Amino acid sequence: MYKTLIFSLFLFSLGCSKPQQYNDAAFDTFKSRFILANWKQNPAAATNAGFHNYDSLLPAYTEAYRNQSDAFCKKYLDSLSLFNASELTASNRLDWVLLQNALKSQLFYTDTFKAWQWDPSVYNVGSTLAEIIQAHNLTNNQKLEFVKKRLLAIPAYYQAAIENINNPTPEHIQLAIEQNEGTHSYLNADLVNEMKKLESGALPTSEIANYILGASDAIQNYIVFLKEVQSKSGYKARNFRIGKELYERKFDLDIQSTGSAHEIYNKALIRKRELHQQMAGLTTQLWSKYFKVAQPKDTLAAIQQLIQKIADKHAHRDSFMQSIEAQIPQLTKFVNDKNLLYLDPKKPLKVRRTPAYMDGVAGASINAPGPYDSDAETFYNVSTLEKMSAEQAESYLREYNFYVLQILNIHEAIPGHYTQLVYSNQSPSLVKTLFGNGAMIEGWAVYSERMMLENGYGNNEPEMELMYCKWHLRSVCNTILDYSVHVLGWNQNQAMDLLVNQAFQQDAEAKGKWRRVSLTQVQLCSYFSGYTEIFELRERLKQKGNFDLKTFHEKLLSYGSSPVKEIAQMME
Ligand code: ZN
Ligand code: ZN
Repeated sequence: MYKTLIFSLFLFSLGCSKPQQYNDAAFDTFKSRFILANWKQNPAAATNAGFHNYDSLLPAYTEAYRNQSDAFCKKYLDSLSLFNASELTASNRLDWVLLQNALKSQLFYTDTFKAWQWDPSVYNVGSTLAEIIQAHNLTNNQKLEFVKKRLLAIPAYYQAAIENINNPTPEHIQLAIEQNEGTHSYLNADLVNEMKKLESGALPTSEIANYILGASDAIQNYIVFLKEVQSKSGYKARNFRIGKELYERKFDLDIQSTGSAHEIYNKALIRKRELHQQMAGLTTQLWSKYFKVAQPKDTLAAIQQLIQKIADKHAHRDSFMQSIEAQIPQLTKFVNDKNLLYLDPKKPLKVRRTPAYMDGVAGASINAPGPYDSDAETFYNVSTLEKMSAEQAESYLREYNFYVLQILNIHEAIPGHYTQLVYSNQSPSLVKTLFGNGAMIEGWAVYSERMMLENGYGNNEPEMELMYCKWHLRSVCNTILDYSVHVLGWNQNQAMDLLVNQAFQQDAEAKGKWRRVSLTQVQLCSYFSGYTEIFELRERLKQKGNFDLKTFHEKLLSYGSSPVKEIAQMME
């Protein structure tokens, strides 16, 4: 009702205005209304984005809900079409494109892709409950109230899930069982304790237990159902590979590239050959510096041996974080000295140890506050290696060795993800933050690695060049792998040959990548496709003459996380 009302009010107000008033002011109003209505339609997404007005809602994913969702998307696509995008400011034009794509995506995911039938892991209530508990803009009473309402809705939620599941893939069944078992134990241990803390004696413990019990049983019931599906004789498992047709469509909507998935795949094959050639040359150049024996005839084997040797140079496990911290001012200085782009000195990056509650796998990543929490600081989270065995730590430190660690810092921090974030925050747009293009975000980070080396970062040391090639090969092979598995039907052996023998990855990393490619689709392409489009745009602009690198970077980043093809249109 609420949604319909807002919509008709909006149409009414447009109906009363003359066409020239379909302008930026009207579009701004439209955006705010849409975002609010969208949160109400998708309350779990709202909670995860830090918008807590609809925390008490947990709609069951029934056919009625899907119809409602489709109607919602079609209505908003209609009202979007009332605006002439070309008459809006650049920033609003890009928001218009992002919104249209988001609505079309939602229709595609509901009606065509239908992961809600074959991926049982889409049903999981754990993360939203934890988000509510951890929210720092809610009172204790609100948290308790919202959590209780969600708990009461959980049985109907999982009942709908059981009705929806049809011919799921074995890989997603297994994932769903593992993740829901995690949620089950979260409910019965952490959540009970958190609720006791929140209610501070007002509610008897037995009442909390009742709220938990119904929800917990429903999750358990879902797990039993999935295990039955798993063991049913005659169960015909769906292949997790989505095939060419679905892949191309998902690629168009998720990546928003000018080219097709097949074109990007072909470019990745060419780039892999170039990198292998470059690495072969560097290996011949460096061989005698590191080995007394003759270089093996098999070029890929020789590259692999040399990489292993150079990886001996790495940080100490006790000062891993300090090594990262020390590099940030050096990267900043390099960008400034070479005049690559403007870095705001008022926004230095803070390196910190990853807080315990978000410390899962070892790594380093940018931790930006959500759009509704914009006063919070941005951190560079670095995991310590304390909990690792000597062997694990050594393997990790070799992977992120002296050279690779610098490239990682370029990618994550300066001038990669962190710098891009600072630029996009200069013209804040909720639409770009919420519906931003992942290929632009990852593409910029991957582009910035190459750009730094082109400008002499690492003093053109051949070791640095070789390690850069290995690192870059990872993005390239992500694309080759994803396309080859989902479209060309590759098996695990073919995947391992690509990753271990041709991309020089450790066995554990390659196995993790196989798992990722069997559970996700297209996302692995975002790194290389975004990079390619940015790189090609730069080369095209250079051809036209009168090119300035700093101006190019600043202009590109000023459009925020919009699809590169749209940015390219504005810049050309
Ligand atoms: Zn070592
Ligand atoms: Zn990244």
